[in-house]
Amino acid sequence: MLLKYKYKLKPHKSQTIIIANWLEMARKQYNYRLAERLNWFEATRTPVNACPLNISVVPVDQIYQNIPEFRIQTRDGRKKDSNGNPITKKGDQHPNIVSGYVVWETVQLADLAQTKKLFPEYKSMHSQVLQDVIQRVQTTMDNFTKPDQKGKTSGRPKFKGRHYYNSFSYPQFSNANIVKNANGRFCINLPKIGLVPFVYNRSIPLGFKVKTGTVIREVDGYYISFTVEDKTVPVEVAEIQPTLKNSKGIDLGLLHYAVTSDGEFIEVPKFFRFSENKLSKLQVRLAKKQKHSQPWKILKGKIAKLHQLIARQRLDWQFKLAYHLLSDCQVIFLEDLQIASLVRRCKAKLGDNGQFLPNGQSAKSGLNKSLQDAAFGQFVQVLEYVAWKLGKRIIKVDPKGTSQHCWECLNKVSKSLSDRWHSCPKCGQELDRDYNSALLIQKIGLLSTQEEDITSVKTAVSFSLAEESLFFP
Ligand SMILES: [Zn+2]
Repeated sequence: MLLKYKYKLKPHKSQTIIIANWLEMARKQYNYRLAERLNWFEATRTPVNACPLNISVVPVDQIYQNIPEFRIQTRDGRKKDSNGNPITKKGDQHPNIVSGYVVWETVQLADLAQTKKLFPEYKSMHSQVLQDVIQRVQTTMDNFTKPDQKGKTSGRPKFKGRHYYNSFSYPQFSNANIVKNANGRFCINLPKIGLVPFVYNRSIPLGFKVKTGTVIREVDGYYISFTVEDKTVPVEVAEIQPTLKNSKGIDLGLLHYAVTSDGEFIEVPKFFRFSENKLSKLQVRLAKKQKHSQPWKILKGKIAKLHQLIARQRLDWQFKLAYHLLSDCQVIFLEDLQIASLVRRCKAKLGDNGQFLPNGQSAKSGLNKSLQDAAFGQFVQVLEYVAWKLGKRIIKVDPKGTSQHCWECLNKVSKSLSDRWHSCPKCGQELDRDYNSALLIQKIGLLSTQEEDITSVKTAVSFSLAEESLFFP
């Protein structure tokens, strides 16, 4: 079981300077290494429609000219075989190019020695923190080039601007890094920075070991986030058989934040509107200031703090809501929403002369903003976490058709987004459309756990038709 624990750091002035320096150095290193990777990536590839299949675009020797063929190990490896001899020894040669591909991570890790020679300030940085920067470049390039389980890749990695690189990590941490200083104050021993006081407001759970530590810069100061692990605690989810009594269905939406199948309507709390009004007023004032002037910077800081406040209020409220929803049931059925595809931009429409035609994006932007504000993705994560903690269960249901069909007879009643009321001509059901969806989600969820063939509204409809034909041939 892996958890994350976050604490506020209270560094001295001298420590703050070191941390800020390290962040800037890490950012520069990150951008340089990313450029190396992207240059290589672009030099060795052509667009699909212009690809000469039989020859390399760039001469092969030119591709490899700056990359040494081998990396020579400088000291014995830590891992040992059964006789106690190190598996890899000093002087061993490791190839940098394996079957035509450059092993970039090791090439760049080995090149750090060169960086330290050229820029001696990097010697003051903890070596593992510096190595972690290269690991981050590797991860972003992997996300860019290797498709995930759904066949999707993330976009081209971006270079990080001044305010966009806000954390560095120590990959090897332990409980021994949490100590008390001479005054009896709790401190974190950050190697090469020193004892940094921090607010130890909740202790690491018993039996859990601190694995890594990440220093994070936020608008109101610095934080440290630990990953803590206890391998003996199982991660498994509770196996509860859902029934009509112990379960509920939940429909998430923008008009009501959530509607449950018990008929409970949950509204977005008013303090969000209040903070939003405050935010828009500040933004109007900011627009009138001269960019990068002192008053502009002060206002900018205020806005950033307000954004942080809103994010924290939202998370806090979502946790309270999750506990409330799970207080009187064992299983919750939820739509399996694809937030990313909901928020996607509309496709551009081009006219005859290549000019852009209206494509409805401005109307959708308003909807997208509300969807992002509502943070349903985060709420689903919170709900799953709370359910796991309480030993309860969350089951996701295919959302297709849950707003269009009648929960009682599964008859299709077409509605547009603005139709708020569901009235079924077949069985005479009269109720709010979101309430209908919540009831339908519960029904489909229950059916899907009882019948193997049913996974969505569509299969449920065909199943009920087949059943009807048995009784009324
Ligand atoms: Zn009906």
